[in-house]
Amino acid sequence: MASRVAVSDGGNKKTSRVRVAVRLRPYMNKEDEKSEGPCVRGLDSQNLEIINWRNATETVKYHFDVFHGEQTTQQEVFLSSVKPILPHILNGQNASVFAYGPTGAGKTHTMLGSSEQPGVIPRAVREVFKLVKAKDESDGWDYSIGMSYLEIYNEKVLDLLSPNSQDLPIREDKDKNILIPGLTHMNITNFADFDKHFVPATLNRTTASTKLNQRSSRSHAILLIKVVRTQQQLPHRQQTGKLYLVDLAGSEDNRRTGNQGIRLKESGAINLSLFTLSKVVDSLNSGTSVRVPYRDSKLTRLLQDSLGGSAHSVMITNIAPEYKYYFDTFSALNFAAKSKLIVNKPFTRETVAVPVLPVKRSREERETGGSGT
Ligand code: ADP
Ligand code: MG
Repeated sequence: MASRVAVSDGGNKKTSRVRVAVRLRPYMNKEDEKSEGPCVRGLDSQNLEIINWRNATETVKYHFDVFHGEQTTQQEVFLSSVKPILPHILNGQNASVFAYGPTGAGKTHTMLGSSEQPGVIPRAVREVFKLVKAKDESDGWDYSIGMSYLEIYNEKVLDLLSPNSQDLPIREDKDKNILIPGLTHMNITNFADFDKHFVPATLNRTTASTKLNQRSSRSHAILLIKVVRTQQQLPHRQQTGKLYLVDLAGSEDNRRTGNQGIRLKESGAINLSLFTLSKVVDSLNSGTSVRVPYRDSKLTRLLQDSLGGSAHSVMITNIAPEYKYYFDTFSALNFAAKSKLIVNKPFTRETVAVPVLPVKRSREERETGGSGT
């Protein structure tokens, strides 16, 4: 397709990769009952380290496409991880941005934010309107923008713009576009229009969540912004670009928290979607030609045409620095980084492994000998 020519960073191999950013939220006293301080810290704009629980004198170091430290502003996250992919959706290409990580680590802050610190969603929507307005009449296309908003909960697809909706089916058309027949689609002409639909739906979701025991941390909230452009001249060709903005369910392992009954059932469903997402991201980023298991869960099936392939995708992994999140942070980092893990020994005792060293050394020798790397 002609639209693929516009991809600036080379062949399909490269574009099918999911860019991985990690964002560390600020340390919060109230999340640290034992006053242990943080167990994760940033090193530079691509690297961070976490204390190794097997040996507290070691840290495990991770490398990512981008690391956003605790001082990073909402604006900086948007500029570096999201803004660059938005022009593609005006050219009929697809994109997805999703926030991954344990509950409490900052996914909703990153995606939604607050009125004082708006997150990725309001900034991206404003930017899409700005990009469309900046298109000159003379570029030969007419643009229209629309939105849908849905939730995947227990492997059910629910329309957040139509409160009493039932589980909706996911289908694929002959051009391999993924669609949901029956899902509400609202045309929007400016940001206020968007807000008018989005805010009450989000409030509804959050209110329901307190009643249903943190449902919002167990479901995936998915906002779809669709840009359709139509050629002014014959043959009036039409192109559709989709942008998915996803606040994922918490990645914590619910089996460990002793959930039962409906909670356990939810956990199973959540684990299926997130587990499948991890397999999908993995097979896209490993660059091998293994089958990408999109069909194994609702979430990945829905994102199939907007994750990998010629789509532009960013995963923002949110993590928290306090010890109570330690194992969830560790597993979130392992999901995000896979083979990029390096073990680092800041308080190195490597020298004792060398056989020629004397068995006993003075304390002074040990200290000078051990500070090499
Ligand atoms: P999640 O959606 O992953 O469960 P939240 O976004 O609700 O997490 O964040 C948990 C708490 O931490 C909230 O009170 C939120 O305002 C705060 N928070 C998260 N990230 C940041 C950040 N980067 N800066 C300041 N506060 C943050
Ligand atoms: Mg949240």
